[in-house]
Amino acid sequence: MSGSYEDQPEMNTLSQVIDPERMTKITSNFTRLRDKCYLENAGATLYPQCLLSVIHQDLMDNVYMNPHSDKYTKDCIEQIRSDILKHFNTDPSNYSVIFTAGTTSALKLVVESFQFSVDEVEDEESTSGSFVYLRDNHTSVLGLREIAAERNADIIHISHEDFLQALNTNYDKSKAQRKVKFPTKNDANTLLAYPAQSNFNGYKYPIDRIEHIKNGCLNSHLKKQLCKINNSWYVLLDAASFVSNSKLDLSETQPDFVCLSFYKIFGYPSGLGAILVKNSSGDALCQKKYFGGGTVDFVLSTEDVHVKRKELYERMEDGTIPFLAVIALKHCFDTMHRLIPKIINNHMMDTISYHTFYLARDLFNQLQDLKHANGSKAAVTYMDSDFSNIKTQGAIVTFNLLRADGSYIGFVEFQHMADLFNISVRTGCFCNSGSCQRHLAATNKELKDIHKSGHVCGDEIDLIDGKPTGAIRASFGYFNTFEDVDKLLNMICKCFVKTKRKPRKRILTQIIDSLKSTKLYNGLTNAQKILSEAQEFIMPEAEDISQNMDSAIVLKEAAIFPIKSCGAFKIRSTWKIGPKGFEYDRDWMIIKDNGVCLTQKQNTRMCMIKPKIDLHKRKMTLYFEGRHPISVPLDFGSDSKLKNSSLCRSKVCTDTIQGYDCGDEVADWISEALEISYLRLIKQSSDDNRTQKKKHDGEKKLLSLSNQAQFLLINKATVRWLREKILDPLFTDDEDSLTDRFRGNLIIEMDEELAERDWHRVIIGNQEFKVEGLCPRCQMVCIDQQTGEKTVEPLRTISEQFAGKLRFGIYLSYVGPADGSKDRLLKIYSSVKPIINDDDISR
Ligand SMILES: *Cc1c(COP(=O)(O)O)cnc(C)c1O
Repeated sequence: MSGSYEDQPEMNTLSQVIDPERMTKITSNFTRLRDKCYLENAGATLYPQCLLSVIHQDLMDNVYMNPHSDKYTKDCIEQIRSDILKHFNTDPSNYSVIFTAGTTSALKLVVESFQFSVDEVEDEESTSGSFVYLRDNHTSVLGLREIAAERNADIIHISHEDFLQALNTNYDKSKAQRKVKFPTKNDANTLLAYPAQSNFNGYKYPIDRIEHIKNGCLNSHLKKQLCKINNSWYVLLDAASFVSNSKLDLSETQPDFVCLSFYKIFGYPSGLGAILVKNSSGDALCQKKYFGGGTVDFVLSTEDVHVKRKELYERMEDGTIPFLAVIALKHCFDTMHRLIPKIINNHMMDTISYHTFYLARDLFNQLQDLKHANGSKAAVTYMDSDFSNIKTQGAIVTFNLLRADGSYIGFVEFQHMADLFNISVRTGCFCNSGSCQRHLAATNKELKDIHKSGHVCGDEIDLIDGKPTGAIRASFGYFNTFEDVDKLLNMICKCFVKTKRKPRKRILTQIIDSLKSTKLYNGLTNAQKILSEAQEFIMPEAEDISQNMDSAIVLKEAAIFPIKSCGAFKIRSTWKIGPKGFEYDRDWMIIKDNGVCLTQKQNTRMCMIKPKIDLHKRKMTLYFEGRHPISVPLDFGSDSKLKNSSLCRSKVCTDTIQGYDCGDEVADWISEALEISYLRLIKQSSDDNRTQKKKHDGEKKLLSLSNQAQFLLINKATVRWLREKILDPLFTDDEDSLTDRFRGNLIIEMDEELAERDWHRVIIGNQEFKVEGLCPRCQMVCIDQQTGEKTVEPLRTISEQFAGKLRFGIYLSYVGPADGSKDRLLKIYSSVKPIINDDDISR
């Protein structure tokens, strides 16, 4: 019961579907992953590298024209349509392929074109038809109800349990007496939409009960909703998640409309999907309004006359289809067939199915068994099957983690650690709010309240009153191996499950002792110690110091980060505060050749570029170990100074930034230092007015390229407190280098840790600041600012200490000189006066 992942038996009993030799061949096509562990296949799977070369070669060798004008290209595409149908074990006599931009637009096109009512005139008597959907659908299916409602269909949703029960109850066909043998004038159609596999947790819904549905097994549910029963049922199957890992055999089951996206099967091309329409149901798609190029046989531009083409897909595909992407599909099929052996049932998809199922099952089982040292469960899973049957479960595992005391670990906290370990998973609700709600047991009212309180899909609020608002999803593809399962579990154990580590107690005391021994003057407050040390070095005016000696809090250090994500420039004495924060703080950034800003998250070596600013010589000099320093001018204003500077735009945290290019010489220097080609150094143009994201009282603060606020204040006492909490013997930072990781602008020294969290305003020297809130920390604090090395700490301990809220340091915005003067200089070793609003003591 004292189990941990490391205590689990060896995994040699696991079923290995694809032999190691073949597996090596497969993984050699994904070398671009390097050490990344990719478990987000349900979002998009990855293409094998060899696929790109064959597609490239094809496009290099052949002339493909618009298929409307070129018979050859059209023939190639026709051929691919039948290849697709063959993949699903059917042929053009039974099904048609309509190309779309993806599953979402496929679903939309079906509902827009579907004939809900045979007689679409507004008439009280006429039956309106219904749109029935499973609640546990992808958001793209939920949105269909808006179109269906506009088309006057009744909108009916059905719960997971009711749906399964209706489908699995053996339904007496004779009693079902299909009352209406042939559609009468008032007859209408019912369209049922459900997923073949849940994108939330990989549960496979029955797809072999289509006949049952068509025979009316859901009629009683409709009756309960006081809807008229329309005997013509059509099934819209969302197969996007299912077909990525499973065999869909359309000779065994025949949904009317099957929607899918090809990137979920092959990883490439994106932007291409399809509807597979059962030919005998094609007529139900007769309500399509728009016609575009290629869809009509005849049209008059001046009269409301047009005749649609007779082939279903010709009527449905408006404009020119993405024909080069379609051409690529041929190679997708060929490449997969070459790469994947047909071990199970002599079928490629069955082989993939089993291979990925075993991986997911292994993860599931190990999560089930995962326990904290005190015996409490370390994970909860959100599954609808226990992996006992591959027919009902795909290769997805959805879960949350628990602390030893039973409380939840937020998925955002998990996501940060996963990023750090280079593991790709999905967190949140994965566009399936129905399943999310059912598994997290949240009521509609709770969800509305949560939304009212400011939470939206995709934000960082992962726990509300201790309850999770989402989960973690790991999904497998054919290139994954048991090693990937290990990587994820090792990371979970390392970060979140305290495994039995006997020597821990001893390490704890050692660290504390060594920290104690470094405290030099035990009688003084820390601030006084700093001041007395500072006195020796810079000798400011005598009264100043004596005054400050009384102060309990002092500004110990100030720093700017001239280039976003690069090293700090520590301020020696005073520095000017500009409209965006400290002058020259994050005034420059490095952008990649795609125009996007480079950050330490992508390249940890950035912190080793150390800028120094010389205000007299008006230049910034960059230093990097082993390279000659290089300088750029501070001023750009007069455009003539740098001839080849050009105004450019870049994205920083989804904002567009305007700036000047600093020229080729420094660009080459940086590219070589960071070992990334085509980097450019950009200086933010002074008229670029980024404002603080969180706007209080309608006032806006100008921002430089720092992402959140003008200043970040770090309390050294809090850093010391954190250092003592970090028990990992591998973490060797001292207090100062740990402080550096937080990349604060203002480092204060005082005796009390965490006190800064309660401040509302703060006056440093003569300058007043307003507290904007706590700083949410990301994995950047895990980068050693001297070496660029990544560590697990201090993020793990921060998250542990603050119950998953990764907050450290406070954001400040500048208010102005406290004495009303024009003085905008900030001096180090100034005293720090915190102000706590009286009316806010309740916090
Ligand atoms: C991915 C997915 C979708 C949406 O597919 P798009 O390619 O984004 O249009 C819809 N349903 C399910 C079940 C999915 O997995």
